[in-house]
Amino acid sequence: MEKKYDRRMHSAEHLLNQTMDRIYQCGRCFNAHIERKKSKCDYRFNKALSAAEIEEIQTRINRIIQSDLRVNEHFLSKIEAENRFNIEKLPPDAGDRIRIVSIGNYDHCPCIGPHVKSTAEIGKFKITSTAFNDGVLRIRYKLEN
Ligand SMILES: [Zn+2]
Repeated sequence: MEKKYDRRMHSAEHLLNQTMDRIYQCGRCFNAHIERKKSKCDYRFNKALSAAEIEEIQTRINRIIQSDLRVNEHFLSKIEAENRFNIEKLPPDAGDRIRIVSIGNYDHCPCIGPHVKSTAEIGKFKITSTAFNDGVLRIRYKLEN
């Protein structure tokens, strides 16, 4: 977990992860670097993305942002959370009440970070570049107001 997450960027990361997994069944990113101005996420992957694919990912994410989904949280016991989610990325001292963050019905993810209240706050999502190397796809993105 990064020390200080930007809410908008970090909430966009949730949407990118869910969108990537829906399209490619690649799971969520295994590594992320989230900053206010630009962020990057790394996925285990098997090819480079075409321009059309990048466009499709952006379009889907911006559609979700524009539909202004509410971000909600609820709590599960650690055992319930383990049964339904991968909680490996949570710190080991996360405790027995695991917070699940939901973005409308689009994404549900155990997370301790700060999020926007609804997706319209995120602004416009733009992929700035992608790179594929040795089984890892890196997606860099930024947000425009
Ligand atoms: Zn989060």
